[in-house]
Amino acid sequence: MTTLKTWVTVPHNSDFSIYNLPFGIFSVNGDAPKAGIAIGELIVDLEAISELGLISVDASYFKQKTLNEFISLGKKITNKVRLDVQRLLTIENSPLKNHSEVFVSQKDAKMHLPVHVGDYTDFYSSIEHATNVGKMFRDPENALLSNWRHIPVGYHGRASSIVVSGTDIHRPMGQVKTNDMEVPVFKTSGNLDFELEMGFVVGKSTELGERVSTKQAAEHIFGLVLFNDWSARDIQKWEYVPLGPFLGKSFASSMSPWIVTLEALEPFKVQGPEQQPEVLSYLKYEGEHNYDIQLEVGMSSESSSETTISRSNFKYMYWNMMQQLAHHTVNGCNLNVGDVMASGTISGKDESSYGSLLEISWGGKKPFELKDGSKRTFIEDNDTVTMRGFAEKDGKRVGFGQVTGTILPSK
Ligand code: MN
Repeated sequence: MTTLKTWVTVPHNSDFSIYNLPFGIFSVNGDAPKAGIAIGELIVDLEAISELGLISVDASYFKQKTLNEFISLGKKITNKVRLDVQRLLTIENSPLKNHSEVFVSQKDAKMHLPVHVGDYTDFYSSIEHATNVGKMFRDPENALLSNWRHIPVGYHGRASSIVVSGTDIHRPMGQVKTNDMEVPVFKTSGNLDFELEMGFVVGKSTELGERVSTKQAAEHIFGLVLFNDWSARDIQKWEYVPLGPFLGKSFASSMSPWIVTLEALEPFKVQGPEQQPEVLSYLKYEGEHNYDIQLEVGMSSESSSETTISRSNFKYMYWNMMQQLAHHTVNGCNLNVGDVMASGTISGKDESSYGSLLEISWGGKKPFELKDGSKRTFIEDNDTVTMRGFAEKDGKRVGFGQVTGTILPSK
């Protein structure tokens, strides 16, 4: 990685270094939302720099509530915009130095969902997570189902309830039936959980009937976000047989507002775990497609400051994004720009790296403590869950900021 130096003040350890430059949608003072790029504690207003004639994409693409139309221009153009902004933020005689109005403080901005999500798919690609869940709910000796090492298992989620970081979530209600009950009851979920995930945003559409190979898949991925797939375990447990997750998942998922491009993450690629048995040919891939992204989950309550309850890493994923995309389209299912595909809960090998409370409290049997000494097994009302993630190499950091959400009582 060449060393770049920006003339903008970027705090040490900022997720939004000159190497990152993620895209998002922001608004100031209740004005219409528009597109920007994050640098340090600032946002570069893309509409404004387009109007100054400093980038080649028309300002109308940035004067939008979502990035979908901009992303649809294709990577050749979107990458050029990012690199042009990088150049404007690094060159000595930058014209932006005389245009302070193109910079907005992130403190003054409200962030919005960056894309219109037409479809959302959730995978189940962490072998550690799938093994833990299998041990708890099925057979401790034979935790993985027989299809797991052959198929990147997934389900179609609900796109309408995907919200941007900072949005409060009401505790869901639903049908619950525990083993000691004869019949189900209707109640507020008592086992509310988070899932530490990363999601990718589809950047190139396909036609119905078209397949995307693992080799072509990167062209179809615009970038990544942090993703919290909130889950009501008690509702999920009763409803999921035989067709899979439904209302225990569809009440909300939260995503971070800044989309970090696949190109910005290029230096952090690592080899994924060995896949045994050998996968079918359409799932084979060449090169490195896992990413070394450090992840953490913090939990706070009305009485307790934030406690870090998990540290994991995106590099643990058994199935990579290229395989997920190849599998998703192998039957000819079409993709649309803005679709979100999430990884599934990202757990590591040991207890400190589990990506859900289901695993951390082992099904509610092992309470853990917040900083003020209060105990938790699942999320209580007014608790806040915050996920963070960043990649770092040779002192160069590319991060995601955070995805946070507070659970309010049921409506
Ligand atoms: Mn999930």
